[in-house]
Amino acid sequence: MNIIFLGPPGAGKGTQAQRICDELGIPQISTGDILRRAVKDETPVGLKAKEYMEAGKLVPDEILVEIIRDRLAQDDCKTGYILDGFPRTVPQAEALEKIADIDVVVELAVDDEALIRRLSGRRVCLKCGATYHVSTLGDKTTCDKCGETLIQRKDDNADTVKNRLEVYHNQTAPLISFYSGKGLLKSFDGMQDINAVYASIMQVLGNRA
Ligand code: ADP
Ligand code: AMP
Repeated sequence: MNIIFLGPPGAGKGTQAQRICDELGIPQISTGDILRRAVKDETPVGLKAKEYMEAGKLVPDEILVEIIRDRLAQDDCKTGYILDGFPRTVPQAEALEKIADIDVVVELAVDDEALIRRLSGRRVCLKCGATYHVSTLGDKTTCDKCGETLIQRKDDNADTVKNRLEVYHNQTAPLISFYSGKGLLKSFDGMQDINAVYASIMQVLGNRA
């Protein structure tokens, strides 16, 4: 199954995608993770993307479309995948239509106040992509999955979060009607707790498998 996860930053896309990909045995393709790796490795793409990411802006469409085209051509995508963080603009969605057959778009809806709380307390593992929140971490500072030290993302500061939410509402939210018009959209209440969101998504995906 080829699945898109759509929702604002902090909605829980990465949290749910990682768990569901483990369950279904398909890759999680997070464009944010791919770009952060490129920035860390100082590749040509990383050097171009860094400024946009630090400002909370979208990296130009042509860079993202190229990244996704390469990634979807890899063998592990043959049995399905979850796109986490792509597409984020209508031109990206139109480009994707030419290279992939999407089965379902999972939309997670969360209000802005909760998103700000989630993003300001988020801690991530840059090695394996696992995501945590300070409210449940206690005094733990390393990743449960791989032992790496957890960090706070540079773009999870208050000013950048504000920009990212604005960018979401202006540039990404139009994808909700784009996919709803194609009959692909399934919307979920992302305000529920992590296990409840997971159960509702799996119920819908299970019915389609
Ligand atoms: P996204 O990938 O959509 O940006 P994440 O999955 O990284 O969002 O989640 C953002 C933060 O919110 C993380 O700290 C995560 O632990 C927390 N979180 C995710 N889902 C929920 C939920 N349903 N309820 C409360 N907190 C959540
Ligand atoms: P994320 O990890 O999904 O929150 O993404 C972090 C940052 O990477 C975003 O704020 C953008 O700067 C950039 N990014 C990730 N995915 C995309 C995309 N599909 N289009 C444009 N920029 C992206």
